[in-house]
Amino acid sequence: SKAQGKNKCCLFDDSMREEVMKRACMEGYLREALQQNELSVFFQPQFDIGTGALRGMEALLRWHSKQLGNVPPSQFIPLAEENRLIHQYGKWMLRHACQKNKEWQNKGLPRIPVSVNISPRELEQDCFVEQVITILQETGLEACYLELEITESLMINGDIKAIDKLEALKKIGVGIVQDDFGTGYSSLSYLNSLPIQILKIDKSFIANLQRKESDISLVKAIISLAHNLGLRVVAEGVENTEQVNILKECRCDFTQGFLYSPPVDARTAEEFLKNKE
Ligand code: C2E
Ligand code: CA
Ligand code: CA
Ligand code: CA
Repeated sequence: SKAQGKNKCCLFDDSMREEVMKRACMEGYLREALQQNELSVFFQPQFDIGTGALRGMEALLRWHSKQLGNVPPSQFIPLAEENRLIHQYGKWMLRHACQKNKEWQNKGLPRIPVSVNISPRELEQDCFVEQVITILQETGLEACYLELEITESLMINGDIKAIDKLEALKKIGVGIVQDDFGTGYSSLSYLNSLPIQILKIDKSFIANLQRKESDISLVKAIISLAHNLGLRVVAEGVENTEQVNILKECRCDFTQGFLYSPPVDARTAEEFLKNKE
């Protein structure tokens, strides 16, 4: 039977084989994660660095597997991208994030955008724009309260169609965020060719901000470039107040990180909305 097959594949003890087998097991479990009700959406708040006001939240996918326990996205997202499960899970994620945001608005809580991470694989789909529009219609969320976070790898693949799709989404009011800025290998000029409004500086640049003078220069330059292009800037991975002070000096707009809150479940996220001003 299927269940026996799963048990068997977990018995290997040779370490390399074990890795391969663990992956195979994980893939099998991941396939069933949605039906098994094992996926959930967490939210991490973002704040205005000047006023401290809540400005938005990033939605992050969580998988609690009955067999494997909590599996981090860094492990299961690449796997989902390989076997195209990401299409199904991405759609689920988008719907749930929009639904929750609309639910908060219906309760009379402050209106903020929720941002959702989009894998390049998802953007490849011809129906992606329609899918987003359908989800907005079905949940009743206004487009301006949805942001999509994209990565540089999108542009490395030179997907022209992806740019058109992002343009179409921007036109209807969806916010486009450049995630993990500075970690890819694309040239700066592409910042101009993409319809983005927000740039997120990758947390690797924030991590050494207190210790590395050169990282301060880099972050300063990125922020000034972004501002000149009319973009606003989020610093992610902010963990201490020294970093905040440096980011303020660099004129960063928004912050997100463990200093303020780790990603939390929807109920806890709602408290941030209730405490907003
Ligand atoms: P990301 O989009 O860069 O998300 C930020 C990651 O940094 C999150 O990890 C978050 O928990 C973590 N983080 C937040 N604050 C801090 C901090 O102060 N310090 C440090 N060191 N880390 C912090 P997470 O949730 O494990 O997600 C990892 C990656 O998985 C995400 O990176 C994103 O690329 C991907 N991912 C997560 N959810 C989704 C999803 O729904 N769809 C897609 N396509 N990718 C997702
Ligand atoms: Ca992100
Ligand atoms: Ca990021
Ligand atoms: Ca990332």
